[in-house]
Amino acid sequence: MGARLAHRILEILAMIVRVALPVPLNRLFDYAIPSGVTTPCVGARVLVKFGQRSLIGMIHSLSDQTDVPLSKLKPFEALLDQEPLVNAEQMQLGEWAAGYYKYPLGDALIHLLPNLARKEQAPFSEPDYWRLSDQADIESLPKRAVRQRALFTLIENRQPISTSTIREAEFTSQVQKALIESGQIEQCDAPSNVQQHAKSVQPSRAGLALNVEQKRAVDHIKECEGFNPILLIGVTGSGKTEVYLQSIEQALAEGKQVLILVPEIGLTPQLVERFTVRFHTDIASLHSGLTDRMRFEAWQSIRSGQTRIIIGTRSAIFIPFANLGMIIIDEEHDSSFKQQEGFRYHARDLALVRAKQLNIPVIMGSATPALESLLNVQEGRYTSLQLTLRAGRAAAPNFELFDTKGVELDTGLAPDIISRINDHITLGNQVLVFINRRGFAPTLTCQDCGSTVDCTRCDARMTLHRKPPKLHCHHCDRQTPIPRNCQHCGSDQLRPTGSGTERIEQRLSELFNNTSIKRVDRDSTHSRQAFESLMKEVNSGEPCILVGTQMLAKGHHFPNVTLVVIVNTDAGLFSADVRGMERTAQLIMQVAGRAGRAERPGEVVLQTQHVDHPLLNTLVTTGYLTFAEQELVSRKQAQLPPFAFQAIIRAEAKKQGWAEAHLMRLRNALEGTYLREQLPMISGPFPSYMEKRAGMYRAQLMFTGHSRKSIQGTLKAAQNWLEQDRESSRVRWNIDIDPVDSF
Ligand code: ADP
Ligand code: ZN
Ligand code: ZN
Repeated sequence: MGARLAHRILEILAMIVRVALPVPLNRLFDYAIPSGVTTPCVGARVLVKFGQRSLIGMIHSLSDQTDVPLSKLKPFEALLDQEPLVNAEQMQLGEWAAGYYKYPLGDALIHLLPNLARKEQAPFSEPDYWRLSDQADIESLPKRAVRQRALFTLIENRQPISTSTIREAEFTSQVQKALIESGQIEQCDAPSNVQQHAKSVQPSRAGLALNVEQKRAVDHIKECEGFNPILLIGVTGSGKTEVYLQSIEQALAEGKQVLILVPEIGLTPQLVERFTVRFHTDIASLHSGLTDRMRFEAWQSIRSGQTRIIIGTRSAIFIPFANLGMIIIDEEHDSSFKQQEGFRYHARDLALVRAKQLNIPVIMGSATPALESLLNVQEGRYTSLQLTLRAGRAAAPNFELFDTKGVELDTGLAPDIISRINDHITLGNQVLVFINRRGFAPTLTCQDCGSTVDCTRCDARMTLHRKPPKLHCHHCDRQTPIPRNCQHCGSDQLRPTGSGTERIEQRLSELFNNTSIKRVDRDSTHSRQAFESLMKEVNSGEPCILVGTQMLAKGHHFPNVTLVVIVNTDAGLFSADVRGMERTAQLIMQVAGRAGRAERPGEVVLQTQHVDHPLLNTLVTTGYLTFAEQELVSRKQAQLPPFAFQAIIRAEAKKQGWAEAHLMRLRNALEGTYLREQLPMISGPFPSYMEKRAGMYRAQLMFTGHSRKSIQGTLKAAQNWLEQDRESSRVRWNIDIDPVDSF
C-alpha cells in the first residue's frame, strides 16, 4: 500500500491514539481505535497488547498520523475510562519532568496516575458519598457504640462526605458498615461540581496572636498574587507552621486548594492535627502508610475539588488538583524531596515549575535552607522572609564544642558528658543523644589479625546487631548469624568496634538504671504507630534519655529536652560529597533545634576532635546562615553547585569493568560527535564510591556545566545513545539530573 493511500485510510479511520506505557523506552506508542469505540479522550486509560503482555497505558494524545506501517498498527484492546484521569496541566508537568530528568516519557506520564489505577483495570468512578438518612437518630445507637456515634456526628457535620474522608478520620469500614446496616446513613450523590466545592472555607478557630516577625511574613504572603517564590527562613521553633496556617487562610477563603509538601518523616499526626483543628474542611494526608485503595480515594477526592488541604510527601506534586491556590514546602532543604531511584525528580523543583504554570505563590520554609535556595534569594529570584526569634517563651539553645582529643571515651561518650547527662536527668529533664548509626556496632574486628567482617555482596562492612543478634549489611540488606571465628585466621577473638544506637542504649541503661532509655531508629520503631506512641510517652514529660538517629531530627517537638548530645560530629565533617558539609550543618542544627523548645533553655554539646574546624565554629557561634554564606563562597570559588549544574550517569553490571567500559564508550561517542566547547566538563568514568554493591559493580560519569542548557543537550544525546546501544542490555544505567548525592 502506498504511503499516500495509507494516510488517506487513516484519515477515514480518523484517529490514532498515542499511548504512554510503563516501559523503559523514551517514546509513546501508537494504537488504532477499534471499531465500535467512540473517540476516547486524552488522559483516559487503555488496555493494550505490548509484545506478549497486556499493559495499562494512558492516552497522551490523538493523532491522524503514525509512522507505524498500517499492517503492524494494532487496535488497543479496551478503553478503561470514559473521562480523563489526568488533565492538560498535569500532563504538561509530566512531560516537562520526563524531558528535564531524562526519564522515559511513557513511564513518567504513568507516574501521574495513582498506583491502583496503574494496576487495576476497574474503571475510574466517582468516590462514594454518604449522608444521614431520613430516619437517622443518634439516640437509637447503643451508648457504648462510641465509634459509631463519633462517625454519626462527623457525617452530620460534614455531609455529603466521601468514604476517603471517613477513612482519613480513622473510622474503619466496619464502623461505617454498622451505620449503613442500621439504616442511619445512606449513599448519596457527589457534590456535583467544582463550583460547589469552591465555596469558601473559614478557619474554625482563631490563629495565635502573631509576633512582629510572623505578622510581617503573613502580611507579605497575603499580598502575593501570582507566581511568587518565597523562602521563609525561620529557626526551629520560630513558628513557621503558624505562618503557614495563617497564610493559607486567604486561598481557602477563595475556595481554592492548598498543597503542603513535607519530607518523608515530617508527615506526623501532630502536623495534620494542627491543620485539622484550625480548618473545618476535608484534609488528605498522603503518607507511605496508606494502602493503594486509600490513596486512590484521596486522589479522587482531591481531583474532584472536595478535599481542600493536601499534606503529602514528594509524590503529591503529581496529583491532579481541581483548583490549586498555593503550595507550601516545609523543610525545603530535605533531600527526601529528591527521589533517589527510578524517576529521579525533585519535588521542590517540580513544585516551582507547577506553581509557575498555575501562576500561584509557593512558600518554602526551613531553619536551614538549601544553598540552592539561598543563592536564588541572593540573585533575586526568591523573596526571603525571616523569623529569627523562637515563638512563645522558648529561648535559643547554647552550643558547645566539646574536645574529645585524648579523652578516653566510654562507648563513644566522654565521661564529662555522661556526668552532664546525669545533671539534667537529676533536674527532672530529658536528654537526647544523637548518633547517626543504627545497630550495636559498625563492625566486628578480629583481635588477632585485625580483619573485619565484610559483606560478600558489597564493598562494605557488616553491622553488628544484638536485638535480635545478627550481622546486617545496611547497603544490600544481607543478614547472617554472628560468626564465632574469624574467617581469615580462625581466631575466636572477634570484638565489636565502634558504637551504634543499640550499644549506647545498652551502656546508658547500665549507667542510669532508674531512668527510661528510649531508642529511636529504623529498627526500634518499625511502624508509624510504634513511633507515635513512643513520642507520646516522651511528651508526657517524665525524665528520660532518647538515643537515636536522624529520625529524631525532624518534625517532632520535645519540649522537655534540655540537653542534646551529638556523639560523632566528625563523621560528617570530611565527606567527599559536594554537599557533605551542608548536609552535616543542617543535621546538627535540626537536631539542636529539638532542645529547649518550651520554657526550659537548651544546651547542645557536640563531641569533636576538631574544635578548631572553621565551618563548625561559624555554625555554632554565628548560626546556619553565616555558615551558608561562607560555604557559598567556597562553592563559587570551586565552581560547584549551585554555581554549576551537574548530572551523573550511573551504571552497574555483574562483572567488574563492564559498567566502566560502557560509560567510556559513551564518553567517546559524545566527544566524537560534539566539539569540546559544546560539551560540559566530563569526569570519569570512575568506579563508584562503593564499587560493589548488592553483587553489582558500579561506575559513574559526571557532567558539570555552567548552564542548564549544555547539561540538558548533552544528557539528551547520552540518553539516546544509551537507549540505542546494543550492548546496553548487560549494563543497567540511570541518569540523575541535579543529583543531591555525588556518589
Ligand atoms: P516551627 O514550625 O518553626 O518549628 P512551630 O510553628 O511548630 O515552629 O511553633 C513552635 C511552637 O511555638 C508551637 O508550639 C507553636 O504553637 C508555638 N507558637 C507559634 N507561634 C506562636 C505565637 N505567635 N504565639 C505563641 N506561641 C506560638
Ligand atoms: Zn583474624
Ligand atoms: Zn551488602
